[in-house]
Amino acid sequence: MIKEYIEQAENILLEEFSVLPFRSNIIYYDNLQTFLHKNGLNTKGESAYTPKDLTAHLPKGNLEDILPLVYHEYHGHGTFCEFSMYGQKLVANERIYDRLDYEQKIKFVPKAQEYFEAVKPYFEGFAIWMEEFLLTKSGKKDLWKLRKEKSKAMPLDFQHSYFEAYSMLKNYEKRKGTDALWRKVGFFGGKK
Ligand SMILES: [Zn+2]
Repeated sequence: MIKEYIEQAENILLEEFSVLPFRSNIIYYDNLQTFLHKNGLNTKGESAYTPKDLTAHLPKGNLEDILPLVYHEYHGHGTFCEFSMYGQKLVANERIYDRLDYEQKIKFVPKAQEYFEAVKPYFEGFAIWMEEFLLTKSGKKDLWKLRKEKSKAMPLDFQHSYFEAYSMLKNYEKRKGTDALWRKVGFFGGKK
């Protein structure tokens, strides 16, 4: 069942934007929290995406619960990390990190962290935007309403929520259109 939704979403992305997450993977876990904890990821999260191996980590569960998470992690972050120039740099930074020795890592981490913080509103805002886009397209708008409320309580940093990052992008889309939004977050060469 979830597979059909994933394929349908890929077809929509391909048709509308000529992209789809074709190198990203999905792993479903019986106990996702254990994986998150072991890998130093945010254990408060319901799911995760790791740029370095282009993998969406998701809990097992019923369709209604995991569909928004699949759209967020796999279609949202996956497409972003594969095709947006900002996402590609996040992937590159994580891969560079893995190859550095201890001394080099100490120098590299603050730079990589600074870059991630700067790109984070696009990274997370775009993933929430993708949830809305695909949930609406697949006739699951009721699920989007719940996620939208939830995103207001998901902290992006100490001052902002995921919802605020999404809203910034959504407002931009309302003014300039969907293609312009995608360019803003680094797709299609990133030019306006
Ligand atoms: Zn996310």
